[in-house]
Amino acid sequence: MKPLGPIPMGFVALDGELAIGGRKASALVEEAGGTPLFVYSGAMIADRVAHLRACLHERVRLHYAVKANPFPPLLALMRGLVDGFDIASGGELERALASGQRAQALSFAGPGKRDAELEAAIVAGVTLNLESAGEARRALAIADQVGVQPRLAIRVNPSFELRGSGMKMGGGAKPFGVGEALVPALAREVIGAGAEWRGLHVFAGSQALDAEAIVEMQGRVLELAARLTGEIGHPLPHLNMGGGFGIPYFAGDRPLDLAMVGGALGERIAALPPELAQTTLVLELGRYLVGEAGVYLTRVLDRKESHGATFLVTDGGLHHVLAASGNFGTVVRRNYPVAIATRFSSEPEEVASVVGCLCTPLDRVAEQALLPRAGVGDLVAVFCTGAYGASASPAAFLGQGPARELLV
Ligand SMILES: *Cc1c(COP(=O)(O)O)cnc(C)c1O
Repeated sequence: MKPLGPIPMGFVALDGELAIGGRKASALVEEAGGTPLFVYSGAMIADRVAHLRACLHERVRLHYAVKANPFPPLLALMRGLVDGFDIASGGELERALASGQRAQALSFAGPGKRDAELEAAIVAGVTLNLESAGEARRALAIADQVGVQPRLAIRVNPSFELRGSGMKMGGGAKPFGVGEALVPALAREVIGAGAEWRGLHVFAGSQALDAEAIVEMQGRVLELAARLTGEIGHPLPHLNMGGGFGIPYFAGDRPLDLAMVGGALGERIAALPPELAQTTLVLELGRYLVGEAGVYLTRVLDRKESHGATFLVTDGGLHHVLAASGNFGTVVRRNYPVAIATRFSSEPEEVASVVGCLCTPLDRVAEQALLPRAGVGDLVAVFCTGAYGASASPAAFLGQGPARELLV
């Protein structure tokens, strides 16, 4: 038997079935027209944002990283909850604007921006987080051609990384950002060329559950920004401090101690160096805002025994929940939180493996999990799939196509 990850707080049973937003899984599937289906709870997302606001100093602005989940109704919800969006492609720019988000509340990072993407962002008035000197010069040239003053910030590749993070995005040789030492000259160059100077962006890592590691990183980000601002010699309007707040996916994971992170950041904000006294501070979060609010529902198509093991074969799989299958940036495969949605109040009584419908051994949803006995027609719920699910999985693989999505 292998343990399942922890089911996020707030999911309850209704008539023995998993309920999301007060409605039974089977009813949601019916409304959506079938399985596989992602359901996102708007109330859980709103609660999460409110909890963050309560724990964070009022000076801290919250941005949503669209990459985590770009489902249009979810973006429309997020627009009303957070202070801005961080985007990383022209496609995300279109979706962000279509959600009604103001271009002035968008910042655009990402290491390979095409000329057309730079132009669209500059014309709209989006802040570009420049990833290299080459990109800075292309942006300036394009702005010149279209006759618009570009809003430019520089993404710094810090010399440190976020300790214990699932994906490291800083420290050493990286495709992201401009090396610390090269930032002051590049900043002076773009300011000298007439750009509107928007500030600095430092994103050192992702999916950290250790509050101390985040507190330490935030301290280093503030120190770095103060030092670079002194060297640049211009006031720093904005500092995007990154995020990296993780969520518990696996057995043994403990939720991030947000009160500790917020408390330590509050103390630092009360004693900011003069270089940052007027700076707007931004945190950019993706999975922490939406990850635990998403549930993937898939139906059992077959139940079979093989060499003494029980398999529940579903109509979903890694083409929608690549991360849950263990194939998106994990070294050792571990089980996400999974449940039989249609028997949510039943006691577990057998060990079974839940697999997807794809013809590959990689398509595992839960391995050797202790579950209530499920049969053909039951619904399986995979939790923690609100971020990096639908849009981060190869939906076209084996001709399957995308899952349905519903915001409730
Ligand atoms: C991916 C990414 C994020 C979001 O990361 P989460 O782990 O979902 O919070 C934020 N900022 C940048 C620059 C990113 O690349």
